[in-house]
Amino acid sequence: MVVGIIGGGQLGMFLGISAYQMGYLVHVYDPNSDCCAKGIAQKCYQGEFNDYQKLADFAKDCDVIVYEFENIDSNIIKKLSQEYNIPQGYRALEVASSRINEKNLAYKLNIKQAKWQIVNNKDEIALSYPFILKSNRLGYDGKNQYLINNKEDLMDIDLDIEYIAEEKVTFDYEMSIIAFRDHRGKMLAYQPFYNIHKEGILDYTLLKEIPDYLYEQAKNSCFKIMAELEIIGILCCEFFVKNDEVYFNEMAPRPHNSGHITMDTHYSSQYENLIRVVNDLDIGNLNIKCWGFTKNVIGSDKLLKEIPKEYYFKYYDYHKEKRIKRKIGHLIGFDKNLFKYFKEEK
Ligand code: AMP
Repeated sequence: MVVGIIGGGQLGMFLGISAYQMGYLVHVYDPNSDCCAKGIAQKCYQGEFNDYQKLADFAKDCDVIVYEFENIDSNIIKKLSQEYNIPQGYRALEVASSRINEKNLAYKLNIKQAKWQIVNNKDEIALSYPFILKSNRLGYDGKNQYLINNKEDLMDIDLDIEYIAEEKVTFDYEMSIIAFRDHRGKMLAYQPFYNIHKEGILDYTLLKEIPDYLYEQAKNSCFKIMAELEIIGILCCEFFVKNDEVYFNEMAPRPHNSGHITMDTHYSSQYENLIRVVNDLDIGNLNIKCWGFTKNVIGSDKLLKEIPKEYYFKYYDYHKEKRIKRKIGHLIGFDKNLFKYFKEEK
């Protein structure tokens, strides 16, 4: 049995490791011939994500195909799915590659979100300051995202691509929900992940008690989206929590950075579960087996050498060239004092 993975970044690498541990062979498709997942795949295909012919050449040897990236043309996945087995489907990509589509879907499903509008022209923005300008497409890790405090800030931005404006939410904290939906439509979710961002990039994820009623609100929103898009696979939704209310921020129909933690703190990781679900196996055990936190290693791994020796942690290296604001690995710690050490040191 061959599991094909479209996208060979760190998410593709961890998916591939899980698939191989379960006895599957792994083929990876990525534009970069030296991608993170190269070392763990039995076969790598190099090609652009919009190259239908190359994707079809890759797909013909795979029994099942998963994607780990949302910025793939949904029309190409739609066309491929007519011939090959891609359980996640194309509809989730259609939505997740555009903030406007995500927000319209949330509105349609009655999911609470911050005020927002499409920006056609700077003079038409009806939101009060401060607000955030976000590109409709290809805006991740704070890219193409600007906090606008006043008119002068707005004047500095060149609206060369499509943007939305979104109310700045003075949230109490951020959380994400990662859920799975199987071939029979059964849905399950992990307990929420508590996330701390720095400059728009996820810095820490930790397991922290979050009131049940907030979890239920967030989980139901996530389930509604999965059912609506008929996803057979995984969905991560990110939320702001403010005054005991949950506001939908964005979604990703693939394994998520905040779910790395499940590799060590849960019985069955997000990677294992996606592989299980697309292979028509039951969703695994989503319970927590121990406390932990993830610290993303961004730009440089210098901090690893500075951690006092008394703390045990696991480090996962993405084999990526070090570059400012780039996630090059993550560590998972199990000791609350190590978390305290980071928060005090940095
Ligand atoms: P996003 O790419 O939309 O997930 O944004 C990255 C991060 O920027 C979020 O996780 C928040 O920490 C921050 N952020 C984004 N949108 C807002 C908003 N409307 N209000 C406050 N903070 C935001």
